[in-house]
Amino acid sequence: MSKKPDSLLIHGGYIIDPAQGIDEAGDLLITGGEISWLGKRGETPPLSDYDSLDVEGLAVCPGFIDLHCHLREPGFEEKETIATGSRAAARGGFTTICCMPNTDPPLDNKATVEYVKAKAAEEGVVRVLPIGCISRGRKGEELALMDELASAGVIGFSDDGAPAATSLLMRQALEYSCASGLPVIDHCEDTSLTGGGQINEGIMSIRLKLQGIPAAAEEAIVARDLELAELTGGRLHIAHVSTAGSVELIRRAKEKGVRATAEVTPHHLTLTDEALLGYDTNAKVNPPLRTKRDIEALVQGLKDNVIDIIATDHAPHTEAEKRCEFALAPFGISGFETALGSLLGLVHTGQLSLSELVARLTCEPAKIIGGKYGGLGTLAVGAPADVTVFAPTLNWMVDTSTFASKGRNTPLAGSVLKGKVVATISGGKLVYKDDSIEFKEG
Ligand SMILES: [Zn+2]
Repeated sequence: MSKKPDSLLIHGGYIIDPAQGIDEAGDLLITGGEISWLGKRGETPPLSDYDSLDVEGLAVCPGFIDLHCHLREPGFEEKETIATGSRAAARGGFTTICCMPNTDPPLDNKATVEYVKAKAAEEGVVRVLPIGCISRGRKGEELALMDELASAGVIGFSDDGAPAATSLLMRQALEYSCASGLPVIDHCEDTSLTGGGQINEGIMSIRLKLQGIPAAAEEAIVARDLELAELTGGRLHIAHVSTAGSVELIRRAKEKGVRATAEVTPHHLTLTDEALLGYDTNAKVNPPLRTKRDIEALVQGLKDNVIDIIATDHAPHTEAEKRCEFALAPFGISGFETALGSLLGLVHTGQLSLSELVARLTCEPAKIIGGKYGGLGTLAVGAPADVTVFAPTLNWMVDTSTFASKGRNTPLAGSVLKGKVVATISGGKLVYKDDSIEFKEG
């Protein structure tokens, strides 16, 4: 009896690997959990015994890396678990996801980080990398045990959901980042300006008679923390940039050589505050959806390398929590499963090239994570076999009842997106496959 092949040939696709400058038709062979061969169309793989995945007409790229998501476990398992969140990630083409520490208890000590890692190893289908708290208990008072968290394997620090409460705390965290090399991931919000705010402050908040969240609430903290990054020489990563003003502040800081990186979410790149017109609580997110002018600045920021990466800020909530009076609904969008489909809109309208988009989801976030994960986000021979296959022009309707995520909270429910992930391979294992493509045993 012949043994089951240890190799998988991904055959007939179009390979996009910005890390290697590859943007052409080709085949990919995976052996023992690693990329073992990459060939141009027509070249023969160095093996004859393999399973195969026929991906004619489809794009093949490194598995996506998400630097910002909320898996809600421990403490909020009714919203999401590591098991459901990682499956949702796989359906969205993500093979590495970094989870925020605003759990209960928060990830401010070794034991909770170890808990998340153990759960992820047991129940997760993609690589889960925890982020540790900046402050003990996320209370914004004193620094968390950063050495302990770093040795437990966190890839960065954040009090996400809240900013680093004081300039002093941020200064200390950034000073620590000089020694550890791990980024401080910054949720920029001056909460004295946003208390009770619901949506972007502007024409829409006046029209809907909802309390506004001014762009200045974000920009004030972006400016503060860029100053502190300059002062300390620390590594600052600015989460979910949403305003044109923030883009300008980051642009100027980068020109001065400040060690800052930045991310933008799919929803801030593709939706304006007009999505709130029907008081849809599923479009209520923090920072809020902004205006067309902000979107234009965010896209330009991506093109100019002012914004380095795209991260989902996947923030699942239960249906009951979102089905309530607008002011009482929690902030957040369940983002994994629609990320690529919505982002491809930027490619179809000529605002970004496919390769620019893929870079922002693969090799660029790998660089920010760095360390032993810095080599992720590529299809180079010897790299872990994390691969995403997508149909760039397939039209599909967002049906939240098919989501793997427990969070069905998305303003995209019922809309038609052009482009869909159809297979995801994580560490050589096929962890998601759409029925539209065929897997053949060798
Ligand atoms: Zn945040």
